[in-house]
Amino acid sequence: MEKETLFYEKLSDKKVRCNICAHRCIIAESKMGVCNARENRDGKLYVLNYGKIIARHVDPIEKKPLFHFYPASPAYSVATVGCNFKCSHCQNFEISQMPTYENRNIVDDVKPQEIVDQAIKHNCKSIAYTYTEPTVFYDYAFDTARLAHEKNIKNIFVTNGYMTSEALKSIAPYLDAANVDIKSFSNDFYKKICKAELQPVLETVKLLKQLGVWVEVTTLVIPTLNDSEQELQQIADFIVSVGSEIPWHISAFYPAYQLLYLPPTPPETLHKAREIGIKAGLRYVFTGNIGDTESETTYCYNCGKALIRRRNYTIMENCISDSSCPSCGTAIDGVGLAG
Ligand code: SF4
Repeated sequence: MEKETLFYEKLSDKKVRCNICAHRCIIAESKMGVCNARENRDGKLYVLNYGKIIARHVDPIEKKPLFHFYPASPAYSVATVGCNFKCSHCQNFEISQMPTYENRNIVDDVKPQEIVDQAIKHNCKSIAYTYTEPTVFYDYAFDTARLAHEKNIKNIFVTNGYMTSEALKSIAPYLDAANVDIKSFSNDFYKKICKAELQPVLETVKLLKQLGVWVEVTTLVIPTLNDSEQELQQIADFIVSVGSEIPWHISAFYPAYQLLYLPPTPPETLHKAREIGIKAGLRYVFTGNIGDTESETTYCYNCGKALIRRRNYTIMENCISDSSCPSCGTAIDGVGLAG
């Protein structure tokens, strides 16, 4: 199921420019882009990972993490290999950095309709394009998302936010929610750790919001690399400037891949970050990866009542009624919250 991709331009000398993500790779004949998932063949750009599903699971939506989008619903979660980032701390590096040619012989082709049928079979409210980077399997996600909407299944991107505006606008009618990583507020961090740039990520968060997609943001806090109060304040202030209703997930790092020499994030750092987010004006700020019920709870931002209690992706209690706080009547931001 190799396919000519949707967004590219033909240049001179049979070169092409891929316009799916902000790298906008210029690719010579017989070469691949940074993601190793798109190849120039005789002046045409082909996607190599279309339908080559390397992982699929039914996950609680809280695991994406999305906390204010159909809480407690299962999400049919899929990935191909490949990523347009090269993060030194990637938790899924075995599949995100696996060369596409290596993968092609070990997985079967899965047609978009089969993903939708499986989501229905498992009573999933949504399909999540996740684990690696959906931008890199955009064409497949697009075809699947369109079919999913015909069956009233929602679509979710868990993304590094590096899609181009044209690719994002094109899929937006079928995209219902996204969790975007803001990995740092330093361009140096993006360059050194991810081999990418910060600004396109910020633009994606803004555009998603303008396009009416439900957005949540995640920041993995890594000791010594992005854990200063100043940087966490900058991220919080940016999210507030886009929308104070955007939930911010501040997650603990555990040593992985090329950053095995760094320690796990101390819980106190996450609690400090949560304080910073709330003081900055964010309505919903959560810690992640430390199993702390109190800081994984949704509180009413007006009266402080605990509304949705969670522990390790499980909902312990949801007392939201008619999308509002039952105590003071304040409308709680989100989609399909309850009532
Ligand atoms: S999707 Fe891949 S080939 Fe296209 S611009 Fe991004 S990294 Fe380059």
